[in-house]
Amino acid sequence: MRIPRGWSPAVAILVAAGLLVPAGARPAAVPGQSPDQVAAAARIITATSMLEHVKALAADDKEGRAPGTAGEERTVAYLTGQFKRLGLAPGNPDGTYVQAVPLIGFKAEATAGFTVKGTPMPLAVPDDAVVVSRQGLPAVKVADSPMVFVGYGVVAPEFGWDDFKGVDVRGKTILMLAGDPPVADPANAASLDPKVFKGAALTYYGRWTYKYEMAARKGAAAAIIVHETGPAGYAFDVVKASWGRENFGLAGPGEASTHAPVDAWITLDGAKKLFTACGLDYDALKARAAARGFKPVALGATASFTVTNTIRSISSRNVIGRLEGRDPALKHEYVMYSAHWDGFGVNRALQGDQVLNGALDNASGMATMLAMAEAFTKLEGGTKRTMLFLSPTAEESAMLGAKYYAEYPLWPLEKTLADINMDIMNFWGRTRAIVSIGHGMTTLEDLLIAEAAKQGRLVLPDPESEKGYFYRSDHFELAKQGVPALHFLHPGAEYRDRPPDFGQRMRDRYVAEDYHKPSDDIKADWDLSGAVEDAQLLFNVGLAVAQGTAYPEWKPGTEFRAIRAARLKGK
Ligand SMILES: [Zn+2]
Repeated sequence: MRIPRGWSPAVAILVAAGLLVPAGARPAAVPGQSPDQVAAAARIITATSMLEHVKALAADDKEGRAPGTAGEERTVAYLTGQFKRLGLAPGNPDGTYVQAVPLIGFKAEATAGFTVKGTPMPLAVPDDAVVVSRQGLPAVKVADSPMVFVGYGVVAPEFGWDDFKGVDVRGKTILMLAGDPPVADPANAASLDPKVFKGAALTYYGRWTYKYEMAARKGAAAAIIVHETGPAGYAFDVVKASWGRENFGLAGPGEASTHAPVDAWITLDGAKKLFTACGLDYDALKARAAARGFKPVALGATASFTVTNTIRSISSRNVIGRLEGRDPALKHEYVMYSAHWDGFGVNRALQGDQVLNGALDNASGMATMLAMAEAFTKLEGGTKRTMLFLSPTAEESAMLGAKYYAEYPLWPLEKTLADINMDIMNFWGRTRAIVSIGHGMTTLEDLLIAEAAKQGRLVLPDPESEKGYFYRSDHFELAKQGVPALHFLHPGAEYRDRPPDFGQRMRDRYVAEDYHKPSDDIKADWDLSGAVEDAQLLFNVGLAVAQGTAYPEWKPGTEFRAIRAARLKGK
């Protein structure tokens, strides 16, 4: 920019850096709202309107909302119809309310085997190892690829951690341990160091998705994770069942670069046999991998795989509405809410009711988003920044709709100040607290705490942080690209006029009886009063970002702070 004469060097630097906007250059400020005006808009959010949306979205005619089905057509039509009714603008710059998401469905037939010192060690697929290829190719072959044990396969600059130590693994088969490196607390060897990989909580680095992504980035030919029930959180049978059926991915050339040719799991037993055959001690190497000084170990073995995929194309859609900001400059910045629309469809193998209605998962999230969108449209004076309401597809298949949006954003991600994601809301009554998944990660949460305090409520951390729920819904795909995010999943805590264990009991009952089953449907004992309060709170948080002067940030020590900084520098 041209600096006018007469400015002091200090002012000129601030202006050039975009930190100070000269008075004359600034468009007329759009005033914010009075507390009464905000409260009036928040009152638009009611249990009646939210329940109407849930009833429509969980109705049997939506057929459980599986991508690529008639259920998708009716779900997209409902969301689009509601966005239009509310007066939202099309969320796609092409003038539509949808973003096409090309998906593929694929089912793998695979073989796998190792060779140690000239002796073949065949593997039974899927009993010893589960093997897939996610590159979207009909056939993949990896032959005699040298094997390297890379510990936990983690590169985490904020913890000074690099399991690869510059070792070139291109074309090789890397073997990795599940979970975060378990670093002992120097103050108490019996527990994990809270300063490294957040102690007992699971970080992004512990998720299997991270490990496979890292393998692709390093150019490995194949990535094998050693399955242990502890860190993975589920039995090998669960891996076999979910990876053995049809899986979904994004269509297109992008996928070949984000996946290694082969992704695999091996049983703990299988890994130990391999190490023993190589003359190595699995337990000793595993212990070594829990320290920063660990270096990759060549196993002196090779791995071979063949994968044949049966592939079909599915065209699906993200749905998006937009409420344009009123400030001429700030309207080019965005505040996003998200709630996935997809579900598990119809299970014809079931007796009786076959429709997996997904009332809580995730008609409840969409209903919350629609109710908030309505409140924003009725807000006196509107917002300065632009509000986006995104309902991604295929969340239940590795967040593919959100991943697609993050790869092909409709609005610049570096100008997207926040994503507030909802996936299963609280329909069991009013609470004195709300649970924030990923507690302490962003300054958005400071806004959440301040707004919750105005309701006389508290913000609590996730009681099951070791399960890593922050890394398991749509906002995470945006977080990976740097966008600060909040996530709400079963957000109710400390129910009013209920015993202290009520929330956990209801949540456990939901997971045991209804989650991903036909019985996730409208319930007679629902009480949406807490969901209304939560929606009003999230409305207030989004509004604070939309009208505020601060850019939300990832806090120091979080996995996504570096990528956000890099993105903002590049703008
Ligand atoms: Zn969900």
